[in-house]
Amino acid sequence: MIPAPFDYVRAESVDDAIAKLGAAEDAKVLAGGHSLLPAMKLRIARPATLVDIGRLRDLSSIREDGDRIAIGALTRHHDVATSELLHEACPIVSATAEQIGDPQVRHMGTIGGSVAHADPAADMPGVLLALEAEMVAKGPNGERTIAAGDFFVSLFESALAPDEILTEIRVPRSTEGWSYLKFNRRAIDWAVVGVAAVRSNGGARVGLTNMGLTPMRAAGVEEALAGGADPSTAAARAAEGTSPPSDAFASDGYRRELVKVLVRRALEEAMG
Ligand code: FAD
Repeated sequence: MIPAPFDYVRAESVDDAIAKLGAAEDAKVLAGGHSLLPAMKLRIARPATLVDIGRLRDLSSIREDGDRIAIGALTRHHDVATSELLHEACPIVSATAEQIGDPQVRHMGTIGGSVAHADPAADMPGVLLALEAEMVAKGPNGERTIAAGDFFVSLFESALAPDEILTEIRVPRSTEGWSYLKFNRRAIDWAVVGVAAVRSNGGARVGLTNMGLTPMRAAGVEEALAGGADPSTAAARAAEGTSPPSDAFASDGYRRELVKVLVRRALEEAMG
């Protein structure tokens, strides 16, 4: 399919991108283009203007920032997957990036695009929820930090305003115990269901992929663990509060059963 007509402008800096977003009606940021362009070709998205931030090198870095690791929004999945700093300080993030799509997708797609797109089937958002990461956004009124738990609002809808740019994602150092399990039919496929588990205070925080309109925390599982339940007993509550889709890959009922198995295995890996 051919996208609807649109204007294209290239941003020279983050401030320039914000100004260009504010100046054009119905404008969208273009990062790696690996979610936006397919959506435009299917005419699910019809922005009037694309503001290309793809050459803003300032947004592409991975650095230590106090007790957190700051990942620039434009950092490609491949660079996240192969980062020595993340391997040492927050390995669940690099291990998850390694499971996204195929090499071509990982060399073009960005972590910021994955997050801003707010696709419940994307791998990284559930991991960032389990890590209680922070998203840094910049707009005409300056910078603000949004907790991962407040970021994913609805299907393909984030807390970003239309004239805001996601600039950075901050993750805590987390090496204690972790797991990201992605169940898919072929190695390059999207997750039928994904589960992120991060050990915390004797229990674990658990993020779910493709179990509802947004990526979500498995609140029932976390509550059971905090109450002293073992992984197997806690995992039985994994489908609580979820509303998984039915599609060509799996029914909602299948996903509800699958998530219990994956949560148990992820908890055993993270807490074992
Ligand atoms: P774009 O497509 O450029 O943008 C996506 C959306 O985010 C747009 O609305 C855009 O305006 C907005 N946006 C982007 N960056 C910013 C920013 N900095 N500030 C504000 N808004 C921004 N993903 C997975 O998680 N798992 C998979 O297995 C997987 N498989 C894939 C397989 C294929 C064949 C393809 C094409 C994609 C796949 N993806 C998968 C998606 C891929 O990870 C995308 O790269 C990612 O979701 C979007 O990143 P992007 O940089 O391409 O963003």
